[in-house]
Amino acid sequence: MAIAKPLLLLLVGATSCALCADAEISFEYHRYDELRKALVSVWLQCPTIARIYTIGESFEGRELLVLEMSDNPGAHEPGEPEFKYVANMHGNEAVGRELLVYLAQYLCNQYQQGNETVVDLIHGARIHLMPSMNPDGFEKAASQSGEIKDWFVGRTNAQGADLNRNFPDLDRIVYVNEREGGANNHLLQNMKKSVDENSKLAPETKAVIHWIMDIPFVLSANLHGGDVVANYPYDETRSGMQDFNYLSSNCFEITLELSCDKFPAEDLLKSYWEQNRNSLVSYIEQVHRGVKGFVRDLQGNAISNATISVEGIEHDITTAKDGDYWRLLTPGNYKVAASAPGYLSVIKKVAVPHSPATRVDFELESLMERKEEEREELMDWWKMMSETLNF
Ligand code: ZN
Repeated sequence: MAIAKPLLLLLVGATSCALCADAEISFEYHRYDELRKALVSVWLQCPTIARIYTIGESFEGRELLVLEMSDNPGAHEPGEPEFKYVANMHGNEAVGRELLVYLAQYLCNQYQQGNETVVDLIHGARIHLMPSMNPDGFEKAASQSGEIKDWFVGRTNAQGADLNRNFPDLDRIVYVNEREGGANNHLLQNMKKSVDENSKLAPETKAVIHWIMDIPFVLSANLHGGDVVANYPYDETRSGMQDFNYLSSNCFEITLELSCDKFPAEDLLKSYWEQNRNSLVSYIEQVHRGVKGFVRDLQGNAISNATISVEGIEHDITTAKDGDYWRLLTPGNYKVAASAPGYLSVIKKVAVPHSPATRVDFELESLMERKEEEREELMDWWKMMSETLNF
């Protein structure tokens, strides 16, 4: 009888989930208010794994909404990587925006149905979906009458700024540093104030910069349209958002162009979803590659902002608040070093499989402690010598 109770509980769980409303994905364009409603309905259907938040407002005052999916929404869990998708940065590139709305609904439905891949994703990472970085541009593009939209209307934000070219040009700094020696990561540390005061940056850009710098994102994709392309850092456009991610934070971002047509007819949206669904899910899974772990001192205290470097790769990453880090790497053998000011560096050899990420923790000895130890050793030696020689 001892096992009866859990079994019964399992059955109750299964029955209640079979009754869960599996909301259908509506394959249509979502205007601003409809987008809000669609995200809210996902949140209401899956309140334990979803949360809606806003990172700021567009120039015309529309919210820059994000749906977060995680087993612990609203909090960074130490050791768990953060992932993001951003779409519709060019307001007239509408496919990515809709795909993220469908993805949110899909993840919620599949989670409730117990799809193992999706359950693992949501338990193992924190996923942020921003369907529209340029809601003003989208409204402008969508309000044109007729099925065929102008190729350019709605591309920029309401001030006329191309948001993808609006990020600070960190490439320029890094090319100089390459020549003259200097950092190639975290170039904007302690520069949030200057971001806020920079009048050339659009409100949408500022909001995203703060977002990128506040959350320890590991992997990201920026969804565009108008071509079918996958592009990775460094692209030749020096103020692209992906290079900003790479050079200002720990995040590796790729740009995906998903459709030749920027604003295709509504009845094609379902086939775009079917073509991209598995790739969108499997790209999130890539956040679990490489090495990850914690950097702590000998007393077990987290060391944040410690540097993780990989021999032969000129791009360091840093630890987050809890000393946790994630270094994406392809399979192979690596030498990984952890270092922090005031501590002795540690280097470890690591074999990285395809997936999941190998856990490698580092314990760093503080130089102060080392000096103290050496002083004590010297004192002991002096005492012993004094006794031996009978001073
Ligand atoms: Zn674009």
